[in-house]
Amino acid sequence: MSYVSLFGEIAELAGLHFTGDIPVEYSDEVRQGFLVAVDTGVLFDKRREEELFQPVDKSVTDLLGDYFPEERKVIIYTKVCESTANSLGLRYDHLEYVVAAHEISHAITHLGEERFPGSGIIWDWYPYADLWDKELFAQLYPFLHFGHYGKREVLDVFQKLSANQLPIYNSWKPYRHISVREVNELLSLTRLRRFCAWINLDPPAVEEKIALP
Ligand SMILES: [Zn+2]
Repeated sequence: MSYVSLFGEIAELAGLHFTGDIPVEYSDEVRQGFLVAVDTGVLFDKRREEELFQPVDKSVTDLLGDYFPEERKVIIYTKVCESTANSLGLRYDHLEYVVAAHEISHAITHLGEERFPGSGIIWDWYPYADLWDKELFAQLYPFLHFGHYGKREVLDVFQKLSANQLPIYNSWKPYRHISVREVNELLSLTRLRRFCAWINLDPPAVEEKIALP
């Protein structure tokens, strides 16, 4: 499946300028140490198999696909996606689309430029940013995209998958009623946060900008 248009659509939604070329690759490897439990589809850490499938540490993320910020590429793990689709009763093509949108959102929030002419302002410290911040936007933009483009079935798969994932993939839920513009403002503030730390100021209070439901 080609995901070229998805890069442009998510960048447009996020109000960012992006013209880069990020490859989306496929791998049938299961990332070392992990498996998918047949009954629930929730990912488990194989290294703890003897402990009756303890859920993976919440710091371990993105097992269905991954975005590599240094190499600037996306990989979709087809075997893990297949197992997850089968165990949750989801259509594979819809699940793959959800995974691609998540990883592409990582790439766009990292490399998309603020839209002042020739700004070149990206999330340059992205590789060191807080995982919860990164996963919040990688879930929020697909959620907004599927709604915006009327992809109801894909949105349904996104929500079913999310319900079976770790809390870090569910942090988008309190934000589901706020507007695209407000999400974009929140992203801008998050990308600026380290700059605020450098100049020894508190980051702007998000609550003042956005009335959360
Ligand atoms: Zn992610």
